[in-house]
Amino acid sequence: MDEARRLHYLAAMGIEVWQPRVAGESAAATVPAPEPKSALEPAPLLADQDAEPAPQPALTAQPTTGATGAQAALQAIARASLARKTQAAVPAATSHSAPAAAAAAATAATDEQRQITGMDWDTLAACVAECRRCPLCETRTKTVFGTGDRHAELLFVGEGPGQDEDQQGEPFVGRAGQLLNKMLAAIGLAREQVYIANIVKCRPPRNRNPAPEEASACRPYLERQIALLEPKLIVSLGAVSANNLLGNSEAVGRMRGKHHHYQPGDGAEPIPLLVTYHPSYYLRSPAEKAKGWQDLQRIITLLRERR
Ligand code: SF4
Repeated sequence: MDEARRLHYLAAMGIEVWQPRVAGESAAATVPAPEPKSALEPAPLLADQDAEPAPQPALTAQPTTGATGAQAALQAIARASLARKTQAAVPAATSHSAPAAAAAAATAATDEQRQITGMDWDTLAACVAECRRCPLCETRTKTVFGTGDRHAELLFVGEGPGQDEDQQGEPFVGRAGQLLNKMLAAIGLAREQVYIANIVKCRPPRNRNPAPEEASACRPYLERQIALLEPKLIVSLGAVSANNLLGNSEAVGRMRGKHHHYQPGDGAEPIPLLVTYHPSYYLRSPAEKAKGWQDLQRIITLLRERR
């Protein structure tokens, strides 16, 4: 998040922001709070969006007394973001400061994780839209939160946004997405009747696979989406999705046709998970589409068993 957006975002939540001391200015500055339409809608930007954020003191954003749950959640995200920036800004020479900064960042990250676990759909979407938890934020055009029915029985999980998704902010809108739509139609489902998400919400450059640390940084968002959705069945589209959700490194060919379960981190009941090829595989290898049809049949069967 650039500095101007961060300040207005915090201001919209009623958070006082402490600025580094500058000659001729008061050390403490309070950002004038604009009139947001709601706690989750940041006010319009007033400053240069390309301005580089200045290093901030750790944990300078103070929670507002009486903040709502959504505001508290967003405040925690802001504090964790500041703590990470502070840790990154600690010079190697000041080694005595590094452990304290690392400890502050770790505490903030734990706080952030706890807050994500308590978010509702809209708060979660707002946090993802502003997320800078991993380097993919530097190259994305739009975050791709997920789309579909938030009460769907069926959750499809891909690996990450491609170029079209990055531009439009919606998963599976390119050629692979169009094929997925046709596959869903083949079993009598519209795209709007299922939920579609990805392992990471920002596009990896050149469509590479997400790095483990990127997937790990983004995982709390998907975990929260799954907890909110409570799907009857998860369908992993491709190896990256399956490997991340099942915690293995197997190839799709070895996982297809077998029973799997996704174990939610909160100890909730395991959710059946079916592994199939990513639609882009069928675009590259049309002769393999029969396997996709077999998997669609299994999806119908598994859903019926869960009803
Ligand atoms: S990929 Fe996920 S963790 Fe990384 S910046 Fe995007 S939303 Fe945040």
